[in-house]
Amino acid sequence: MYVKLIYPSHDFYNKRVISENGGRRRRTLFPPVNIALLAALTPLKYRLEVVDENVEVDSINTEDLPDVVGISAMTGTAPRMYELADEYRMLGVKVILGGSHATAMPGEALKHADAVVIGEADEIWADILNDFEKGTYKRIYKQKNYSSLKGLPILRYDLFQEGSYYMPRTFQTSRGCPYNCSFCSVTSTFGRRYRHRPIEDVIREIKETPGPNLVAFTDDNIMADRRRAKELFKALKELKIIWASQASINSARDTELLRLAQESGCRALFIGIESISEETLKEANKSGVNRPKDYGKLIENFRRYGVRLLGSFVFGFDTEERDVFYKTVRFAVNSKLDLAQFSVLTPFPGTSIYDRFKEEGRLMDIGWEHFYQGEVCFYPMRMSPQELQRGQRYAWRKFYTTSNTLKRIIRYGKYTPIYWLVNYIFSQINLSDVPPLVNVVKKAWKMVDKTVRLRA
Ligand code: SF4
Repeated sequence: MYVKLIYPSHDFYNKRVISENGGRRRRTLFPPVNIALLAALTPLKYRLEVVDENVEVDSINTEDLPDVVGISAMTGTAPRMYELADEYRMLGVKVILGGSHATAMPGEALKHADAVVIGEADEIWADILNDFEKGTYKRIYKQKNYSSLKGLPILRYDLFQEGSYYMPRTFQTSRGCPYNCSFCSVTSTFGRRYRHRPIEDVIREIKETPGPNLVAFTDDNIMADRRRAKELFKALKELKIIWASQASINSARDTELLRLAQESGCRALFIGIESISEETLKEANKSGVNRPKDYGKLIENFRRYGVRLLGSFVFGFDTEERDVFYKTVRFAVNSKLDLAQFSVLTPFPGTSIYDRFKEEGRLMDIGWEHFYQGEVCFYPMRMSPQELQRGQRYAWRKFYTTSNTLKRIIRYGKYTPIYWLVNYIFSQINLSDVPPLVNVVKKAWKMVDKTVRLRA
C-alpha cells in the first residue's frame, strides 16, 4: 500500500510561497513534528511519502496515485486540507483527516474524508492503516486514552526535503498544558494532563537526528512541570546544544530552573504574556498563570539567565478598550522584550471562547482560512472589527520602528547587526507592508549620499 502524508499550508502563506518563489517556498522555520511522527509510526511495509506544503506545493501525479492520503491541519489550514481531500477522493484515493481542526469539527471533516481521527493517533495509527489495507476501515477513530508518549519512534525527518528548514532538529518532549486559557486549543486537543516523554527517549532522538547544534522543542509549555523540566535540562547539558522552546512567564519565578535551562543551552523562549491587564487575563482564564505586576521582574530574571524572549500579546478581549494597543506596545518596548508578536484573538473551534461567541452570535460568517490569529473573525465588544484590525497592525509597526528596534538591540554589542536582522525579518514576515530589505538599504544609502553631498 502506498501512503502519502500531507501538511497543508495556510492559504495566506501559500500565496506568498507562489508569488515569491514561483510556486515553491524553499525554506521555513520548522518541519512539522506531527507528520514526522506519523511517518515514523507508519509500518515499514508500506511505501511512504511526506509533503510539507510550507516548502513545496503538493502535486498530484495521476500516473502514480497513493492508496491512502493522511492530512493533518489546524483551523487556518482546514480549507486547504478539504481542497486536497476532495481532489484525492475524486481520483479514488482514500483520505484520512486529523489534527486540531478535525478533532474539534469531526462532522464537518467527515464530509471530505473516508475517516477522521479525533485527537491523538500515536497508538492507533498502524491499526488504522491496517484497516484501510483490508478495506475494513471505520469512519471515526479515537484513541481510548491520551498517548502515554513512552517509546515513541525517532521522527522520520529523512523523508523531508533537505535544506528546507532553518531548524531541522525540531522535537517534542511533552504534550498538553495544565492550564486552560479560554482562547487556546491546546487543552481541547491534548487535554489538561501534562504528559511528557521519558528523558532517555528525548536524548536518544536528539543524538540520532543529524543536523546543526541548534534545536527547537515544540512543547506547548516545556517548563509546566518544573521538577521534570529540571531533570530534562540536566540531561540536555551533555549534548552541548543551543535550544529554544515555549514556556509560561511564571516559570521565571524559579531561578534554579532558569539556571539549569541556561546550562542546558536554552537561549530563547516564546512566552504568552497575552495582556497587561488583570481584568483581561481573568476573562482569558489566565490570571492564575500571569500576574502583570510581576512581569518586569520575571522578564528581568529570564534576561539574567541569558534567555532571549519573544513575548506574545493578544488583542480583542471584551474587557479591552481602544487604548489597549498603545498601552501594550509601550509596555513591550519599555520591558525590552527581544521580539514581540501581536495577534488578534481567534475563536478556534474547540475552545470555550468559540462556544461563547457562537452562542452570542458574534462569529463572522467567513471561511476558516481567516482563523489564523492575524485577521478579525468575530465582533469585538468595545470596538469595531476594523478598529481591532488597525490596532493590531499599529502595534506591530510601532514595536518594530527603527527607533524602538534600536533601543532594544543596542545592548547586544557586537551582535547588534544580527539582532537587527532578526527583528527586521520577523516583522517583515508578519507585516507585509514593511518594505523589503533591499528597499530599506537603498533608502538608507540615498540618505547617506544626500548628507555627504550637502556637506560637500
Ligand atoms: S498556558 Fe499557554 S499553552 Fe497553556 S492553556 Fe494557556 S495559552 Fe494554552
